[in-house]
Amino acid sequence: MTTEPNIKLTGVAKIYGTTPAVKAVDLAVAPGECLALVGHNGAGKSTLIKMVLGLVQPSSGEISVMGLDPQAPGFHALRKDIGFLPEQVLFQNNMTGRETLSFYARLKGAPLDSLDDLFHKVDLFAAADQRISTYSKGMRQRLGLAQALIGSPKLLILDEPTSGLDPVSRQNVYGIINAAKRDGATVLISSHALTELDARIDRVAILSRGDLVALGRIADLRRNIGLASDVTLRAAPDVMAKLAQHFDGVYSPDHFINGTAILPCAPDQKVDFLRELVDLNLELSDIVVHDPSLEEVFMAYSRGAGGEKSHG
Ligand code: ATP
Repeated sequence: MTTEPNIKLTGVAKIYGTTPAVKAVDLAVAPGECLALVGHNGAGKSTLIKMVLGLVQPSSGEISVMGLDPQAPGFHALRKDIGFLPEQVLFQNNMTGRETLSFYARLKGAPLDSLDDLFHKVDLFAAADQRISTYSKGMRQRLGLAQALIGSPKLLILDEPTSGLDPVSRQNVYGIINAAKRDGATVLISSHALTELDARIDRVAILSRGDLVALGRIADLRRNIGLASDVTLRAAPDVMAKLAQHFDGVYSPDHFINGTAILPCAPDQKVDFLRELVDLNLELSDIVVHDPSLEEVFMAYSRGAGGEKSHG
């Protein structure tokens, strides 16, 4: 059985005057999948999101969101199935959190009796009846997330969802995203917080000056661009000397001159390398494997932008 993607872009481009903001992007995101859009300022992330939401018309190409062109007259009927957290959340300061969510729930035709659950979800229940003027930045952001979650949308689009949040609230956001995914929602996140995206998303799309320069699982992109992992070994000097001897010709002896050796290793050779180490039966005090982070992957693809596209 094939699952139709909730978002499908084919050759989508947007030119503002003479500025190409998005160039010929092909992309599909399935139900139950979380895709992160990353890129430098001005890379085209917001423009792409606005096109998916139907707020900006593409200059060329085709977009299908839950089977419909966002520019089609019938698309507004689908809006109740889309939750959107904009980068800047603006609310009426003199309204309470509850009045605000009730307002948005009515707009979406969602039941009002689900609001308490939403306040609990974003940890705002205790403040639900306070005026928004008393909310901190993080509380406003969490109210914005609750607003996006109204009606259990099938498509959740979150622009910088963890901006201004403390570590516990950030963790909670990814818990909410995972729950939405389990319910079959498609989640599209735009974020500059690369460190926290690592291991929390299914795939990443890297935009560079409007070009989609990479699309895939982080592990695959790491492999495709040939970034090495680092294996760090700690051991006493006599053990280090034996390691230097064993790896003579592979790693220069300089790697082993103090108690810590950091050895670069191709991702697809990592397991064999660790097996070889175990077979040496030497007394190592520690082994740490560090895979290149999303930030390193991003920098590598951004440096190479303009070359070939890589779809892992
Ligand atoms: P950021 O990370 O700073 O939010 P972004 O990746 O979301 O950036 P966009 O806002 O999509 O980038 O901008 C992409 C390009 O399109 C930029 O060169 C920007 O100046 C241009 N652009 C965006 N909106 C408009 C507009 N309404 N009119 C003209 N140019 C625009």
